[in-house]
Amino acid sequence: MKTEKKAAPTIVVIFGGTGDLAHRKLLPAFFNLYMDGRMADDFAVFGLGRTELTDEDYQKMAYKSLKEFSRRTPEKKDWEAFKDNINYFQSDINDEKSYKDLLKKMEALDKKWGKRANRLFYLSVSPKFIETISVNLKKQGLAAEDDQDRVIIEKPFGYDKDSAIELNKLINNSFKEEQIYRIDHFLGKETVQNILAFRFGNALFEPLWNRNYIDYVQITVAEKVGVEDRGGYYESSGALRDMIQNHLLQIMCMVAMEAPTSMDAEQIRDRKVDVLKAIRRLKPEEVNRNAVRGQYGEGWLEGEKVPGYREENGTSETSNTETFAAIKFYLDNWRWQNVPFYLRTGKRMQEKTSSVTIQFKPVPHATFPGAASDNLMPNKLTINLQPQMDIRLRFMVKRPGLEMNLKPAEMVFNYDSCSTHTPEAYETLLLDAMLGDTTLFMRSDQVEEAWDAIETILESWDSRESINFPNYQAGSWGPENAEALIAQDGHVWSVNTMKRKNNKEC
Ligand code: NAP
Repeated sequence: MKTEKKAAPTIVVIFGGTGDLAHRKLLPAFFNLYMDGRMADDFAVFGLGRTELTDEDYQKMAYKSLKEFSRRTPEKKDWEAFKDNINYFQSDINDEKSYKDLLKKMEALDKKWGKRANRLFYLSVSPKFIETISVNLKKQGLAAEDDQDRVIIEKPFGYDKDSAIELNKLINNSFKEEQIYRIDHFLGKETVQNILAFRFGNALFEPLWNRNYIDYVQITVAEKVGVEDRGGYYESSGALRDMIQNHLLQIMCMVAMEAPTSMDAEQIRDRKVDVLKAIRRLKPEEVNRNAVRGQYGEGWLEGEKVPGYREENGTSETSNTETFAAIKFYLDNWRWQNVPFYLRTGKRMQEKTSSVTIQFKPVPHATFPGAASDNLMPNKLTINLQPQMDIRLRFMVKRPGLEMNLKPAEMVFNYDSCSTHTPEAYETLLLDAMLGDTTLFMRSDQVEEAWDAIETILESWDSRESINFPNYQAGSWGPENAEALIAQDGHVWSVNTMKRKNNKEC
């Protein structure tokens, strides 16, 4: 029997309720969960911030956010019913008294509902506030019930391995590990979750999913946007910290992990940690051969001239921050020995695209003579994560006709064909957090291992100025060295410019 997930009565507190993330993602996600019947009858959202606002002001801001960012346009009657659950609480994170006042508000709701509701604290604020908030949540008694109260922590989670360990210790002083939800929104994406369904819901692929049949794997997350107004933040981050350490390595874990014995959260997280532990650690002298960094200069995108990274607001004109990273990883285990995993990510790339390519090995023997096999290509599985959402398997067929000529064809699963309302990643993750399901969130050891896996590259790039920045044009596919990284192994980046085709053209 199909069971639909529904949250228990919950009070959600968003530290940073007036911020960008709350408006673009969190408030729309709660509205859509409400519309889908996933919120409990008794629920409340408190947006927190220093800005002076009444509940009505905040609700108006939320309405504007929904109109702009929600996947569903809010109908008046739905909005009217939803908005009564949205509250604003003006407060400064550093002010102890405000925690006491917030507690009183939460207790009043518990009293009204006749039960102690669960409490979900979303830390949608700068990481510098994590300590103050978690200490006060515990000290002032807001998060008093270990099995009912949870905290969601946004990225960045640490700056390197040591700072991540420190941060984990610090949060663990106030919360048990099972109360801590380290969010990586990529893991909430429908297409990313589908990697597990695809791999472990089919008998067909698993026997081939190893070094015997797979030549290499590519994971690309390319953005068209530059740093926008986040130059200040990005200067202390860069593509390696901002994208590879979390999103791309997490996708790699889903592709490379062993089959869990069940969908139990700890089982799945254990299997992912195994992948991170298996990543071959680079020696300092190996960094150049296996990792490429880039920074965009000015260029053209969609007919518009765009500035280089060093000209963006908040950046330094001599910045050493990379906006592009491409890395070749190896996993030292039985399944993946000597299969390269090429990961790349960049800003101001030619296209916005996120995809995984599984490149199978060529057939072992050329059965077909001469011209027949001119078009012979190895099988390729492409999992397009965003904005195109599909899975494509390339295989060879006979071109219809009197001659035996081969041509590639594709089998395609397209999300558009089976769902008209795919939930946003934040909807999935917020519902799971309200349900106490940690599967899609990162455990402390996952975060620490992920930092450890890139530590040598971080140290090398931080300590050596890049002499050729900027080294790629905005609107390109990144620096030439990134092509060389993969070309030295005889491969090319599988640029996903292939638009949706059907298989009619034979
Ligand atoms: P933001 O727009 O700069 O918002 C910061 C929030 O913090 C505001 O609501 C601000 O409220 C509040 N704040 C700052 N100082 C405060 C204080 N002393 N007391 C109370 N509230 C205070 O940041 P954001 O973009 O929403 O990002 C929030 C977090 O999510 C960051 O850790 C970021 O790295 C992470 N993140 C964001 C995105 C995104 O798309 N935006 C994506 C991934 C991760 P007042 O100004 O009203 O005080």
